[in-house]
Amino acid sequence: MSAETPRLDIRHITKRFEGKTVVDDVSLSILPGYVTCLLGPSGCGKSTTLRMIAGVEVQDSGTIHVDGNLVCDTVFRVPPERRSIGLMFQDFALFPHLSVAANVAFGLTGSKAEQEARVRQLLSRVGLESYMNAWPHELSGGEQQRVALARALAPKPRIMLMDEPFSGLDNRLRDGIRDETLALLKEEGTSVLLVTHEPEEAMRMADEIALMRDGRIVQLGAPYNVYNAPVDKAAVAFFSDIN
Ligand code: ADP
Ligand code: MG
Repeated sequence: MSAETPRLDIRHITKRFEGKTVVDDVSLSILPGYVTCLLGPSGCGKSTTLRMIAGVEVQDSGTIHVDGNLVCDTVFRVPPERRSIGLMFQDFALFPHLSVAANVAFGLTGSKAEQEARVRQLLSRVGLESYMNAWPHELSGGEQQRVALARALAPKPRIMLMDEPFSGLDNRLRDGIRDETLALLKEEGTSVLLVTHEPEEAMRMADEIALMRDGRIVQLGAPYNVYNAPVDKAAVAFFSDIN
């Protein structure tokens, strides 16, 4: 398979709820190792798009491919757990009844020794090796966030979907965790679709920004280009929040 086969390729995806089109003919490709931000105001259809890729919502039309393989059209569906997709949502909490290590090991297959090595590698990478046997409630919000990232990355997903993953954290922590998260994603070579309504977050983390409005992608490009050459007045206004 060519090196340029997109990790994720969604084509002409449309979704209607009660006659209202909330995702309208969206197409987007993510190349291996890229972080793409789906950026737009609340209600524009970002989470619905992510939910269709994850397989928990079914599109009305369009196709989704991972690594060139069809995972979903309007008649054929690979179930969510077999899509090799990692998920991180704002309220995607750790399992409270499992230790930190067991949380990270949750999606792993392979021998016990292999699983343990992967868990240890990731927890030490995020600076939490000494918390292996702790319970989630014993950790701070930022620490729980790091464990959630380790858990999502542990099975080496082909694509990671992140829906406003930092919005539950307080401002003081957020920039640091964004940077740490991005560094680890890059080290692991993970391809990412990150949903956010904050231009600042997209500017900080994205290789490519897909600007979404009213269910459509209205602009796609490198952060610098999208910021410096907004497609229209509404895009200018949206970006003017950044300070
Ligand atoms: P975003 O994540 O960009 O804030 P969403 O994808 O959550 O936007 O929602 C897009 C639109 O679709 C909103 O108007 C929302 O109310 C509507 N919507 C989302 N899910 C459903 C649903 N299950 N049933 C009906 N309407 C929905
Ligand atoms: Mg949302």
